Amino acid sequence: MQGFNKYYPPDYDGEKHGSLNSYRGKHALGDRARKLDQGILITRFELPFNIWCGTCNNHIGMGVRYNAEKKKIGNYYSTPIFSFRCKCHLCDGWFEIQTDPKNTRYVVVSGARQKDEEWDPEENGGFAVHDTDGNSAPVDPLAALEKTTDAQIHQTKVQIPRLESLMDVSDRYNSDPYSLSLKARKHFREDKKIWKEKEKSDTQVKDRYALPTNLSLAEEDGETIKEAKEQWRKGREEILLRDSKRRKLAVETSIVPSSSGLSSTSSSAVVESLRARVLINTARQSRTSTNSASTFVNSRKSLLRNR
Ligand SMILES: [Zn+2]
Repeated sequence: MQGFNKYYPPDYDGEKHGSLNSYRGKHALGDRARKLDQGILITRFELPFNIWCGTCNNHIGMGVRYNAEKKKIGNYYSTPIFSFRCKCHLCDGWFEIQTDPKNTRYVVVSGARQKDEEWDPEENGGFAVHDTDGNSAPVDPLAALEKTTDAQIHQTKVQIPRLESLMDVSDRYNSDPYSLSLKARKHFREDKKIWKEKEKSDTQVKDRYALPTNLSLAEEDGETIKEAKEQWRKGREEILLRDSKRRKLAVETSIVPSSSGLSSTSSSAVVESLRARVLINTARQSRTSTNSASTFVNSRKSLLRNR
């Protein structure tokens, strides 16, 4: 039996026996490994498709499980091919199913017939999915030659010069690293001085106008100065235009004649028209109010009479 219960007998010596299984002379897989000397391991195998038993001619459905004898029978490239030998549960016949790594499927080798239920794309107007045979069309020798010639030309005209130039650059950089580093550091120091100056002036500007600190200011040269001036002029013109428009509108809509320096003729005409409109409206209102006033007077009279 397998050493599930971990009972270690008194004469068990870990140094000598190693494990309980080896102490009892049993395999870790137990009875399933009884044919291991023939390269056979007993595994549970589930039918991947419907078959008919070749001996009793009974139909056996997909998914029925057997204690199959699993055995490695070969390789497809580095992928092992396994065979599963099962004994029919309805008779004593054996059938064998193998893996087919090339087409990623199972095939019945002997003792049974597979029910053909495979979807055939070619039969249904599609293309075969597993085209492992490759293109078997004859190769045009001239085309092949042209291809290789092109590759050679590309190598000599593009790849080799590129490689050589890269090696030149590498050699130049690695010949005197000290002086190169010196030069680079000196250059960097000079640059850094300029950056610091610029940063200082930028910070001053930002502080003065309360700009966000992470705002990056544009480089100050002739072009940008000119552009900024242009923008400023444009903005100012816009503001002036808007102001004058607003003033004009205010004058036009006010009934009171303004004392501002606008032409008196146009303003007086506007005032006249507005006055006329106001008069019409007042007249209309007074008419309705007199009506209501008369009814009010009548009701007062009737009240007095009733008293
Ligand atoms: Zn059978």
